[in-house]
Amino acid sequence: MRACPESPFRLQPLVTDENRHYWEGGSEGELRFLACTACGHWIHPAAPVCPACLSRDLEVRAASGRGVVHTFTVNHQPWVPGFEPPYVVAIVELEEQAGLRLMTNIVGCELEEVAIGMAVEVCFEELEDGAWLPLFRPVGGGGQA
Ligand SMILES: [Zn+2]
Repeated sequence: MRACPESPFRLQPLVTDENRHYWEGGSEGELRFLACTACGHWIHPAAPVCPACLSRDLEVRAASGRGVVHTFTVNHQPWVPGFEPPYVVAIVELEEQAGLRLMTNIVGCELEEVAIGMAVEVCFEELEDGAWLPLFRPVGGGGQA
């Protein structure tokens, strides 16, 4: 009898009360961040104080999930067991705010199709323990070339 589970496809995030909205928003298809109710600034990664106006009056908001590829690289190294290279590691900047960026993977297209400035939208991959990983795919990319 095998006691060992399959090796995980992804590293499991450390979900805390501070970032739970981010990791669990995908269960409802929402990319969620903290936002400042005083000045409207979006905050990522999560922080207790707005970096723009120092207000502590923050709330969780769902972003559009749309953005552009800010920069990217193609990883050829097998850093993560079970996650086979090559794959695209990208920084996506969301349309809500300049500088609202997250590191992610681009999926749903060929490696050669990924370009800086490419319009992308969020999709989610379910992890363990109710966490969802935000990934991005080309806008309107349904697998058709
Ligand atoms: Zn603020």
